[in-house]
Amino acid sequence: MNAEEPSIEDIAMLENVLIPAVGKGCRECGNKYFSYQAGLSIEKESKLFLLSVECSCGADYVEVLAARLFNDNEYEEE
Ligand SMILES: [Zn+2]
Repeated sequence: MNAEEPSIEDIAMLENVLIPAVGKGCRECGNKYFSYQAGLSIEKESKLFLLSVECSCGADYVEVLAARLFNDNEYEEE
């Protein structure tokens, strides 16, 4: 199993943190109809769950929604 690939758990966690973050709206103007991209950033020891927002008010920012540290359990099923 490739550690670079998001696991089912990662995707579930991303959805968990994404839905409330998107529900809050743009942090600049509060508009809930912004465009966004969600993604995972794989770092050496952790995965970062990122939300990249582009709003019609001009706001353009990336928010770190959550971070997950790698641990030994990840590789249990090798
Ligand atoms: Zn905005």
